[in-house]
Amino acid sequence: MPAWGRFRGFTVIELLVVIALIALLAALLTPVLYSARRAAQRTVCASNLRQIGLAVRMYRDDYQELPPYLSAVHGYVGDSRVFVCPVDPLEGKHQVRDTLGDAFRLEGDYYLRSGVSYTYVPNWAIARQLGWWEAGPPYGAGKWDELTPLAECHWHWARQFHPTWQTDRVTGARGWVLVLTLNGAVRRLRAEMPPEQFTPVLYR
Ligand SMILES: [Zn+2]
Repeated sequence: MPAWGRFRGFTVIELLVVIALIALLAALLTPVLYSARRAAQRTVCASNLRQIGLAVRMYRDDYQELPPYLSAVHGYVGDSRVFVCPVDPLEGKHQVRDTLGDAFRLEGDYYLRSGVSYTYVPNWAIARQLGWWEAGPPYGAGKWDELTPLAECHWHWARQFHPTWQTDRVTGARGWVLVLTLNGAVRRLRAEMPPEQFTPVLYR
C-alpha cells in the first residue's frame, strides 16, 4: 500500500484544535486592530483641529478678535470637512443648543450646513462661569493666555457623548478629549476630568 493511502483525514479533535486556535488569534488581534483604528481617527481629528487653529489665527489677525462661532473661519480652510471628526456619529449635524447661555458651544449645522463636530469653548457657558473666557465677541483674554482651550473634540470617549452632559455623566468615562489651545497646538486631556479641576498643567 502506498504511503498516502494511509492518510485517514483529520480527526474531529484536530479540526477543533485548529478552529480554537483561529478563534484565539482573532480574539487577540481584534483589540489591536480596533485600537489602531481609534488612534488613526484621533490623528485625523488632531489634524482637523490644527487646521482650524490656523484658520482662527488668520481670522484674528484680520479682524482683531476671535470669531463669534467656530465655523465663522471656514473661509480660511480649504475643505469644510475639517470641521467634522471621523468618530462623530452624526458627522457634525447636531443642532444642539446650549440652554445655559445665549450662545451654544456645539453649533452643529446651524451656520455651516456640512456640520461642525467641535465645541467652541468661548461659547460654552461652563467655561464662562469658570472664567476661562469672558463673553464675546470680542472675547476678553483667555484665562491661561495662549494655553486657554479654544475648541475641543469629545467624540473619542469610550462612553457615548451626551450633548447636555454634566459632571456626573463624565464619571466612569474613559478616553481622551482633544483640545485645541489658542496658540494653535492640539493637546489631550483625560475625558473623566471635571472642568472645575482643569489647568493647562494637565495637558499631554
Ligand atoms: Zn475628534
